[in-house]
Amino acid sequence: MMESPSHSMLPTASVTHLHDLTFEELRALLLREGVSPAHTSALWNALHFRADADLRAREDLSPPLRRWLLRELDQTVKTDGLPIAAETPSGDGLTQKFLLRLQDGQEIETVIMGYEGRHTACVSTQAGCAMGCVFCATGQMGFVRHLRAGEIVAQVHHARRVLAARGQRLRNLVLMGMGEPLHNYDNVMRALGILSDTRGANLGPAKISISTVGVVPGIRRMAEEQRPYNLAVSLHGSTDKERGALVPANQRWPLAELMAACRDYGEATGRKIFFAWTLIAGVNDTPEHARRVAGLLQGLNAHVNLIPLNETQGYEGRESAEVAAADFHQRIQECGIPCTIRQRRGIDVAAGCGQLKADRKKRTL
Ligand code: SAH
Ligand code: SF4
Repeated sequence: MMESPSHSMLPTASVTHLHDLTFEELRALLLREGVSPAHTSALWNALHFRADADLRAREDLSPPLRRWLLRELDQTVKTDGLPIAAETPSGDGLTQKFLLRLQDGQEIETVIMGYEGRHTACVSTQAGCAMGCVFCATGQMGFVRHLRAGEIVAQVHHARRVLAARGQRLRNLVLMGMGEPLHNYDNVMRALGILSDTRGANLGPAKISISTVGVVPGIRRMAEEQRPYNLAVSLHGSTDKERGALVPANQRWPLAELMAACRDYGEATGRKIFFAWTLIAGVNDTPEHARRVAGLLQGLNAHVNLIPLNETQGYEGRESAEVAAADFHQRIQECGIPCTIRQRRGIDVAAGCGQLKADRKKRTL
């Protein structure tokens, strides 16, 4: 085995990632560095309101702040720039996917979806994912690492810059990209706190949605902490046997536990819960499946989102026929549960997150 060079053993803890910090932490950093904390607003504005890609180019910053930045950037402090490794505008021009590169060379997906001038960013929370859902391209890759808060924040800033260049504005944020947000709870909540700060990106908490495979402790913690974001739970099956075959995490948090957590969350927060159901032909799209899922959700303030399967290389399942999807949709609604089918564009393309990365590997773009 090769010895690793000694310099790689140097501690890296002395590097502070500016996008990881809250306003108060940024203020404390400037104070420690001997820069007047009065400059915090200007730096926060550059980082999170204007979301400048390159702080060095900001000549309008006050001389002491600018001097400090020019001296320390890439030495003791870093920003998360996230260069583009690949991008694919959708055929319909409404969805744009980006593969962004992290500082350690890992690549993650960020998607911008737009309908009628309302734009949503779909961002990743981990490189890969440990949950191994059989139909998911990210699950098929396995887990690499959690993203830092700044790496989540910077994806949103990337989307805001792309939109601003077109004269458009980001309104909504969904954590439905690569990774399981509640497996990376602290970094995710830190990122959302930074992004909803009214002095910066100012994304309203009601415009932010977290999608989880059903990490029960995370759902319970969101309720306890009264987190003001929307919660979406990926269900896909209404018995442990069926769900477990698609979502291995069901072994750890079986349906009874998951549904109990959802009921408690609903009661504690008074919020509606969104349930995602990926429609797979013959696997979970029959009238009997519709009847059972409606039964499972009775009494809950629930909304069902049906997502047509994005077929992936590593899974033999097929997308439901349109007529089966329409029938499923109608049956859920007839049971008094609001239900929508996602169009074959936008969010369902994003739901296939991990596919751009998987495709790129295959074709080596
Ligand atoms: N880990 C979280 C969020 C990321 S996945 C979660 O699982 O909820 C976002 C959504 O996309 C989930 O509902 C997931 O089940 C769905 N999804 C993943 N791969 C898909 C595919 N190939 N086709 C359709 N939906 C998919
Ligand atoms: Fe992870 Fe979500 Fe994909 Fe499951 S669907 S493997 S939880 S990203």
